[in-house]
Amino acid sequence: MNNKTGRRELLSDAARRAADYLDGLETRRASPDADALQDLGKFDTPLTDAGVAAEEVLAELDRQGSPATMANAGGRYFGFVIGGSLPVTSAANILAGAWDQNAGLNITSPVAAKLEDIAEGWLVDVLKLPEGTGVGFVSGATNANLCALAAARHALLEREGWNVEAQGLYGAPPITVIVGEEFHMSIQKALSILGLGRDRVIRVPTDSQGRIIPAEFPEVQGPTLVCLQAGNVNTGAFDPVGEVCDRLKGQAEGKHVWVHVDAAFGLWARACRELEHLAGGMDKADSWATDAHKWLNVPYDSGLVFVRDPEQLRAALTGFAAYLVQADDREPWQYTPELSRRARGVEVWAAMRFLGRRGLAEMFARNCRQARRFAEGLEEAGHEILADVVLNQVLVSFGDPDTTREVIARIQQDGTCWVAGTEWKGRTAMRISVSSWATTDEDVEKSLAAMIRCARQ
Ligand SMILES: *Cc1c(COP(=O)(O)O)cnc(C)c1O
Repeated sequence: MNNKTGRRELLSDAARRAADYLDGLETRRASPDADALQDLGKFDTPLTDAGVAAEEVLAELDRQGSPATMANAGGRYFGFVIGGSLPVTSAANILAGAWDQNAGLNITSPVAAKLEDIAEGWLVDVLKLPEGTGVGFVSGATNANLCALAAARHALLEREGWNVEAQGLYGAPPITVIVGEEFHMSIQKALSILGLGRDRVIRVPTDSQGRIIPAEFPEVQGPTLVCLQAGNVNTGAFDPVGEVCDRLKGQAEGKHVWVHVDAAFGLWARACRELEHLAGGMDKADSWATDAHKWLNVPYDSGLVFVRDPEQLRAALTGFAAYLVQADDREPWQYTPELSRRARGVEVWAAMRFLGRRGLAEMFARNCRQARRFAEGLEEAGHEILADVVLNQVLVSFGDPDTTREVIARIQQDGTCWVAGTEWKGRTAMRISVSSWATTDEDVEKSLAAMIRCARQ
């Protein structure tokens, strides 16, 4: 296809195949079967000289690719913390894909910049963050943590009279880094990339649920970066962010402290009255990282970095080039590491526009209720739940480590649903994460029955 001939048919065919794929997930296994994996070998062809017709490329992708996907777009995938994509966001993604916008600048995409502006306001509002909080539309919570910590590094050193972006870290005043024992690997990544050092951190012990114990918090002195967590990947538990902030910021040393919250999925609790109590006081922090591709249910890749004083984020991530015109409005590239990138704010806007406040709250509450149902059903069947189910995460043990691992393998083999294993405070566990709009109560019952059946074998 060298020109417009066939373009309409091709795009319609893609949309039809996408819809067929999603419909098929209702009856399909949650993971590829052996044949589908075997068929991936068919992609092993040499690069041809002449190329292949576009319709054939798409057909090949669908024929060999679709069956070999993990069905996390469906309702019975409970591995890691992976949401699905609301149909409106998949549809917006198709349209925005055709737009092919470079979302870096106002001038390269007025519509992307506008929708990010709108989404920024809605997000800060629905998550009850301080007025004026700035948002960067990044690829995920790992990147959001990185950007937030870059803003923290900038702000903490600027207060010491040191411009880290200009001078680098050589000779800079040291920053003390305090994390909870249960901190996420992505914080480690950010600390290592930023030259703050992943091994020179002070680790605060956590309780049985994975929450830091405020009484164990060290006295702080000098520039200090504190990384808290809202939504532990295993238990869903929240650090007492408000309490820690009150304590640190109340001290004379307060202005030398930056509190960051890794809230990859927990931040959404603030958009739901039933869950809000878990995330109280979180607005007292300085920065927050969250994912949109997890619980907001938009397509990959999509994360959000929030910084109370957006100027700190901009100072950490901006650069200078004569050809980069500065509009009077917010320039998106100044709040993300990338210059050119896709217009991921489009789907964030679409999800919120579609759901509204009530739809958002209902989606989060429903997943949490479904998580409690899993826990209740498994407990009734005689299995041990290892942590309180406060949010959307469930940890279950089927006995000794080998038995638990064996049951997980059987559940994965069975294919009704997909779950993976983890370690929790020295115990081997199966982790169930309910994070998808697509999960129905029927999906939960079906999956629960499969889990219990596999555990009995
Ligand atoms: C998922 C997660 C991350 C990393 O997010 P990505 O989107 O995978 O980069 C960071 N922190 C927590 C608590 C998470 O659950």
